[in-house]
Amino acid sequence: MDKQQLSQIFENYLAGNWAHARCSLNYENPFQLICATALSAQCTDKRVNEITPNLFRAYPDAFALANADYDSVAAIVKSAGLYQTKAKNLISMAKALVERHGGEVPDTMEELTALAGVGRKTANVILGNIWHRPGVVVDTHVKRISNRLGLVNSDDPVKIERELEQLIDGENHCIWGHRCISFGREICTAKSPKCTICGVKDVCKYYASL
Ligand code: SF4
Repeated sequence: MDKQQLSQIFENYLAGNWAHARCSLNYENPFQLICATALSAQCTDKRVNEITPNLFRAYPDAFALANADYDSVAAIVKSAGLYQTKAKNLISMAKALVERHGGEVPDTMEELTALAGVGRKTANVILGNIWHRPGVVVDTHVKRISNRLGLVNSDDPVKIERELEQLIDGENHCIWGHRCISFGREICTAKSPKCTICGVKDVCKYYASL
């Protein structure tokens, strides 16, 4: 079986079982999503969702956050981990949004990754969920699962992103990511994956090696 066939089987399985998967970060506009995604690095989405209501109440848009003082932002995001860097980056990002984009969130990979604290993962979250553009989000679940299945053989997120983009239709990149992450949380967990109840075990490289 080639990777394209394997990918199609996995995509069908995800679509059949996690049809309604969605972004687990709470947001109401592009500004809120880019802030929440930036905060989610090495932090659970649940924790981010506990933090962001206070953050957005204090700083409802890029203009407000651009003028925030560091200590106040740091106090709000403290429980997100790496909070000093995250607070600094949030303010810098907001300043750049105001100075370069009129306070709006841009819609290209190049402009997004030029913002403080915004890597390709965050940029692809924005491109897919806000602007409905192609781009595979490679988080810890996608990285683990795509390697276990045998869709890729790499630790490099950029290489994984490029290879998955070749295997999945661009219009499905965003929903595929949400479904894959749901599958990773429920079945193909980092520790003790539930292989015996997994619907793609018959085509999984990791399962074949057990
Ligand atoms: S068989 Fe196991 S390792 Fe393979 S995709 Fe399913 S849960 Fe993950």
